[in-house]
Amino acid sequence: MKYCPACKTEYEDWVEKCAECSGPLGSLPPPAPPEPPQEYVAYRELLQTYNSSDVAFIKTLLESNDILFCVEGENFMTLNPGALPARVMVNADQYESAKELLGDFSGRYTSFSCEEKEKPSEADDAGKGNALP
Ligand SMILES: [Zn+2]
Repeated sequence: MKYCPACKTEYEDWVEKCAECSGPLGSLPPPAPPEPPQEYVAYRELLQTYNSSDVAFIKTLLESNDILFCVEGENFMTLNPGALPARVMVNADQYESAKELLGDFSGRYTSFSCEEKEKPSEADDAGKGNALP
C-alpha cells in the first residue's frame, strides 16, 4: 500500500502519483504506536527511618540529584508516629548513587536497613507490582 503524504490518500502499490495533487507517493506510514507503557521502575529499599525530618531531607537530596524514589509508609508515620518506619525506595539502577549520596549523612538517620543483606525473594516480588502508586 502507498499513500500520498500531502493529502493522506491511500493508493495501490502500482500507483506512482497522487491523483489528487500529483505528488509522489510514499509508503504507508507505520501505524501510530500505542501509548508507551509507563516505564517500569524497579525500586530498591534504601533505608528506613522513623524520623519524618529525615524523610524530608532525603527527598530533597534525591530530587536534587534526579534520583527516582518513592517513600512507603510516610503517611502512616504521620498518623501513627513511631509505629512503623517510613521506607525510602530508590530506583534500583540508581541505588548505588543514592547510597553514596546519603553516605555522608548516614549518622543522621535513626535506622538504616541492613542493605548488605541480599534478599533475592524480595527482588522477585519487586517485579510484581511495586511500581509507583
Ligand atoms: Zn495527494
